[in-house]
Amino acid sequence: AGEIQAQDVDGLKVHMPLCMENLHNELRQDKHTRHGGRMQYGLFLKGMGLSLEQALIFWQTAFGKLTPDQFNKEYAYNVRHLYGMEGKRTDYTPYSCKSIIMGNTPGPQDHHGCPFRHFNETNLRAQLTSHMVDEFDTEDIMRMVKGRHYQVACTRYYEVTRARMLGIGTETLKGGGLSSNGGSEVASQELIEHPNQFFEQSFKLMR
Ligand code: SF4
Repeated sequence: AGEIQAQDVDGLKVHMPLCMENLHNELRQDKHTRHGGRMQYGLFLKGMGLSLEQALIFWQTAFGKLTPDQFNKEYAYNVRHLYGMEGKRTDYTPYSCKSIIMGNTPGPQDHHGCPFRHFNETNLRAQLTSHMVDEFDTEDIMRMVKGRHYQVACTRYYEVTRARMLGIGTETLKGGGLSSNGGSEVASQELIEHPNQFFEQSFKLMR
């Protein structure tokens, strides 16, 4: 597969969980995202295999309202920091679902967080509808969310949306019916514990 380039990120959005897709969409729409979003999404991209060099290109292009000079002054440090190249040189690892779910609650201007945990019911339902999750599965997911089983809800979302993308039923996806071309990765769908796990599984599945 090789290294992921800055310009590949849009095309990889289909493999991202809702939390990261939401941040990506905001970034494209507003050409900006606040600190919490830059940390959450920036580390996720690093986990996907975006190098520091490509990350600088990605973020500079994404913050298209800024001149290169402004970007370098205000944000390049921030990106290098994520890669452990500044400050205390901590090599930050991408956030797990648990830390996103239990972390800082997003304010009205923020887009970080977990949609299953932090979106209100109307917004979450709209998200599911826009990903063509049908009524039956939507109710199933909303029940899980109400029971505070956010990662279980995300796992269900994964199954439903990946099965649709593959044009098969979820039973096939869960039941191990995909014997050829790598279906075994999702044959017994494990709980989604990490956004990068969601991404990697989906990426392998669709290859
Ligand atoms: Fe993202 Fe994890 Fe929430 Fe899924 S459960 S949307 S991967 S934080």
